[in-house]
Amino acid sequence: MSGQNHYTGLIGAYGDRLPLARNARPISLGEGNTPLIRLENLPGSLMHDVELYVKYEGLNPTGSFKDRGMTVAVTQAVAEGSQAIICASTGNTSASAAAYAARAGIKAFVLIPDGKIAMGKLAQAIMHGAEVLQIRGNFDDGMRIVKEMAEQAPVSLVNSVNPYRLQGQKTAAFEICEALGQAPDYHCLPVGNAGNITAYWMGYSEMALAPGQKGTLACGFCGGDCAYHQGRVAARPVMVGYQASGSAPFLRGGPVTHPETVATAIRIGAPQSWDYALTASRESGGWFDEFTDEAILEAQWLLASREGIFCEPASAVSVAGAMRDIENGRIPPGSRVVCTLTGHGLKDPDVAQRHAEAAVTTVDADSSAVRQAILGKMS
Ligand SMILES: *Cc1c(COP(=O)(O)O)cnc(C)c1O
Repeated sequence: MSGQNHYTGLIGAYGDRLPLARNARPISLGEGNTPLIRLENLPGSLMHDVELYVKYEGLNPTGSFKDRGMTVAVTQAVAEGSQAIICASTGNTSASAAAYAARAGIKAFVLIPDGKIAMGKLAQAIMHGAEVLQIRGNFDDGMRIVKEMAEQAPVSLVNSVNPYRLQGQKTAAFEICEALGQAPDYHCLPVGNAGNITAYWMGYSEMALAPGQKGTLACGFCGGDCAYHQGRVAARPVMVGYQASGSAPFLRGGPVTHPETVATAIRIGAPQSWDYALTASRESGGWFDEFTDEAILEAQWLLASREGIFCEPASAVSVAGAMRDIENGRIPPGSRVVCTLTGHGLKDPDVAQRHAEAAVTTVDADSSAVRQAILGKMS
């Protein structure tokens, strides 16, 4: 039995808006309810003319937003009698699938690309007891194979092509509307497989639907109870998707065969939710843009060193984008902007190494040496 105010995760909070069987046993690790933090210290002449927030999804149980989708997908898989789940992953989906499978007492098979996976993510999959299959190929190869396996083997597919994943992920939009009292004017996020931009658009649409109006993806779960129906939400945000230049199919207008970027979580050349993401962009009046790895790492460093928020490289592209589009006026003064920080920086500690030389000074173990070092750094 839970205490009355004990937060029990997304299914506890939003079960009435999720298409799960009533008697399904929730498989939860207390995901969701992540902080929405207003940024205060970013440089830029126009930054103070907007309200810029980050939705810090790195604080989910396994350190990324993937947990929002996984609690719903695994709950449904278990309710259907599934004994095993499978996914292809650039890292975070496998970490999340492994943890929720452990929680449910079922098996997880995860296909990861050879090499190119952040160390923290691999550690999670291993420690949660997943069967890790490292394929000689990239994420897109893995995706093709797991879709075949879901047909040929007794395993449930939990990539974001599984509609329960997006259902769970839409709840981040609900939380933002509740925190702000309304939807933001702009929502910026990194785009890889394009599931998350689709899920946010679905969430905002369900909050913003006029009575009797059909959503981009049908709503139907609010039961007249959503913020819009209570008169709290009047509009949906403009959806802005950012990609890494080496892995930017939405900028190229089609699949990229050999995607490359330091932001491994969005190293995806053939997004599965292509049509949905284009719809979200078009219907909201949004756009896509791209950033070099250098610009992505710069934004990651700014957030960590000036705001105290450590996200992984893929997440930082949302803030790189928002900053540029605020400065160039595409996002006008007076706007309220939310960026999703999709994953925690500790997932990928290797990227911190590039700053180690400037940050770490070796001194003798005596107080005069330490005092001298302190005074030197203060000046
Ligand atoms: C999965 C992931 C993304 C990309 O999300 P999509 O839904 O695939 O577009 C971005 N950042 C991080 C940290 C992720 O784990």
